[in-house]
Amino acid sequence: METSNFIKTIIEEDLKNGKHKEIITRFPPEPNGFLHLGHARSIIQNYHLAVSNNGYFNLRFDDTNPVKEDTVFVEGMIEDIKWLGVKWKNLLFASDYFDEMYNRAIVLIKKGKAFVDDLSAEEIREYRGDLKNPGKESPYRNRTPEENLELFENMKNGLYEDGSRVLRAKIDMASPNMNLRDPVIYRIQRAYHHNTQDKWLIYPMYDYAHPIEDAIEGITHSLCSLEFEDHRPLYDWVVKECEMENVPRQIEFGKLIMAKQVTGKRYIKQLVDSKAVIGWDDPRLITISGLRRKGVPSQAITNFILATGLPKTQGETEYEMFDKYVRESLVEAKRINAVVDPLLVEITNYEDSKVEYLDVENNRDFPEMGTRKVPFSKYVYIEREDFIEEKPNKKWKRLYLNGEVRLMHAYFIKANEIIKDETGKITKILATYDELTKSGSGFTERKPNGNIHFVDGTINKPATFRIFDDLVLDFENKDIPFSEKINKNSLVEKHGFVEALEYNVLDRFQFARNGYFAVDQDTNEEKLVFNEIVSLKSKFKR
Ligand code: ATP
Ligand code: MG
Repeated sequence: METSNFIKTIIEEDLKNGKHKEIITRFPPEPNGFLHLGHARSIIQNYHLAVSNNGYFNLRFDDTNPVKEDTVFVEGMIEDIKWLGVKWKNLLFASDYFDEMYNRAIVLIKKGKAFVDDLSAEEIREYRGDLKNPGKESPYRNRTPEENLELFENMKNGLYEDGSRVLRAKIDMASPNMNLRDPVIYRIQRAYHHNTQDKWLIYPMYDYAHPIEDAIEGITHSLCSLEFEDHRPLYDWVVKECEMENVPRQIEFGKLIMAKQVTGKRYIKQLVDSKAVIGWDDPRLITISGLRRKGVPSQAITNFILATGLPKTQGETEYEMFDKYVRESLVEAKRINAVVDPLLVEITNYEDSKVEYLDVENNRDFPEMGTRKVPFSKYVYIEREDFIEEKPNKKWKRLYLNGEVRLMHAYFIKANEIIKDETGKITKILATYDELTKSGSGFTERKPNGNIHFVDGTINKPATFRIFDDLVLDFENKDIPFSEKINKNSLVEKHGFVEALEYNVLDRFQFARNGYFAVDQDTNEEKLVFNEIVSLKSKFKR
């Protein structure tokens, strides 16, 4: 299901009335962190809008701020976007256009549309005024184009200190839109750049660079989130005054904000830097790398993003809505048994060294997935929570003392005796099985008190299960930083057993009655680690 969205409508009209023959979009991240689910909205929508309308999509790194950027983030973002199944036509860097941006600044200066300002950053701020008061013009505003050309050249050649001078667009200090009050378009910064190395001592500002990048690439529709709405007049000004041939159209949409999830890159970065999480790929984060590591299939992300469309306004989306798409994308996972909190059962009337192999379907909804042999013997593990000493009520459809349940795909067992340790903890159940009740035998004489899963007591693999909960508590309280509100129980490790199969990192399974799990990258020869991807059923109540 794909929800229609208002930008799709605009694009279709532009094609119909001949304004464009092909649609070109782009995703322009700053390589200063890793991508998250919010970015996926921009990436997947931009990509789909272009390719479904006879066009293409560019990936362009907006690397105009060398101090915060790193190639590690460039590589990470590339890996994430590939994994999402999105294909770009061109992989580009804003820094590829630094020469062109410089040349366009010269055009502005020659026309008297830009000037070199000697005011300090603080003075510029003071002169800017505020929403109630118009700004004041800089005393350097009326320099001649000749003087400006020379000063700008000097800025480029390193004659001045960092921050001592800037190039500003000459627009309107009285504009009600603060972005038009002679915005700074170039600054002096002696910083090593990952792409251009030490070539440049001056760097363009985002609001100046971005429209030029879009225009150079012939982007037809430049989509961005709502906070850039007030920047649109400046975007259009730059395209026009820099005399760009192509005129891209900026259109804003509402960001994807997930309820109770840390979404902004800058906030996630704080959690990573303060070590509140294990890294950008912590499965408790909604980073693309975190979701991937957790075991979420990329198709679930695509389906969710297309279904939520491109809204004009910003609202919160419940995480459960995302989980619904995750669950749907996992229906074909192999269904096996895992016991996350084991309790040992000894079947006293079962032959000592006998092992039976039960034929079990890998996924009863997909018979073509075949069957496997599940071992059953004298010792089995069941979930600790599947046993209670005294049956509390009729609803209890599990094992209890003197009660009888079916072990899934195997036999009825009856609990006869409990063994406890000195602290009172149950360490073992002594049970008996009934040979006549073998699954598939057609036995109908009596009904068991429920069906529970098990893992064989000897033929199994020990495993660690990571179970996740909300990362941040008291989410709405904005006075306390996220890193100080981490839920200590947001990651709980349990130790139990899984069937003795082969497990590779990122293999996904449905563990009967437990949930969907995937093999974590911490798995090695010595240990097997699973992440809970999502529960079996939604806990969501409207
Ligand atoms: P930062 O906190 O560093 O600003 P960011 O998460 O806003 O990080 P950017 O690199 O600024 O990330 O954003 C890259 C692109 O992704 C922009 O075009 C932006 O509009 C879009 N984007 C960012 N966050 C979201 C979101 N939650 N939903 C949809 N699009 C988003
Ligand atoms: Mg941003």
